[in-house]
Amino acid sequence: KTSPVTILVPGRLHPRAVERVDKAFRMIRIERVDPALLTDEIRRDVRGIATAGFLEPMGPAFIDALPKLEIVSAFGVGYDSIDARHAGTRGVMVTNTPDVLTEEVADTTVGLLINTVRELPRAEAWLRAGRWQRDGNYPLTPATLRGRRIGIFGLGRIGLAIARRLEAFGLSIAYHNRRPVQGVAYPYHGTLLELAANVDTLICVVPGGAATQKIIDASVLSALGADGVLINVGRGSTVDHDALVQALSDGTIRAAGLDVFPDEPNVPAGLTDLPNAVLLPHVASASVHTRNAMADLVADNLVAWFSEGKALTPVAETAKVVAGQR
Ligand code: NDP
Repeated sequence: KTSPVTILVPGRLHPRAVERVDKAFRMIRIERVDPALLTDEIRRDVRGIATAGFLEPMGPAFIDALPKLEIVSAFGVGYDSIDARHAGTRGVMVTNTPDVLTEEVADTTVGLLINTVRELPRAEAWLRAGRWQRDGNYPLTPATLRGRRIGIFGLGRIGLAIARRLEAFGLSIAYHNRRPVQGVAYPYHGTLLELAANVDTLICVVPGGAATQKIIDASVLSALGADGVLINVGRGSTVDHDALVQALSDGTIRAAGLDVFPDEPNVPAGLTDLPNAVLLPHVASASVHTRNAMADLVADNLVAWFSEGKALTPVAETAKVVAGQR
């Protein structure tokens, strides 16, 4: 071991991150994020946590139970499951894994969009079921990508990578964030509803959490219109799924492509029965290549913190936390 520092790994974590943490530190594993599982030894020794982010929600009780805790290194760019604001007020650094997954997630989003609009999964199912021979060609798709007006809800790192790809497809791009992005020429809309009213294809890639909870509701879906397509690769919590199932059933919008759901791995009732929903099991970043890069960044943040006193990728809420503060 290069360091006597003790790192806690609660619950499942990418094997490469586990291997690297184990090599560089003294590692203790427990079954899940649960204050009841913290032994006296853990409470006494643990200075860092490596965690699978959204898989292992972490609230104030867990953070406060570890008096020597300095840093929580989370796997994934979305960290809405970790109370980072609370961590910040306690002088605990929180890090995530931005950038290394951006291009992969943007690639997957474009694939999901094409699958949703051109019905490719259903066309393949048609072939595999022998219907090409039996019934002839798969029906022409009523929807096309041609001429679509794309609205990006969350023009951040990933949103911008999606926009660049779709610009190359010859499609128009507009967006909504809380603030306009400097140096970006795409038209900005000050509200989500205004964006939805001005496009027919809404791509959601905002973070989860209270500020975006069920913000894609019946009125937003209705504003998209009958040719409307919703793609969600951000967080499932952002969409009102009762309203979505209704809108997909009654033709308020045409189709939806979803990679994320509010209570994974459960999928909201009604969605799996709908032919105009393309459903993926949260795979946007899930290649060996990209998940390895994310695992390395989880370990690298811990190594940088305990060797140089600096985190590589602090989240905004804890950007001002410095080593030795606690
Ligand atoms: P960024 O922080 O770079 O981008 C987030 C964007 O959302 C910013 O432009 C921000 O702009 C905007 N935004 C945030 N909150 C709001 C709000 N309340 N209303 C309107 N706009 C808002 O993050 P990334 O692009 O790196 O990642 C985005 C999200 O994608 C992650 O948080 C994660 O949830 C999700 N994700 C999903 C994956 C999957 O596997 N499906 C993989 C990777 C990421 P502003 O601050 O101006 O509002």
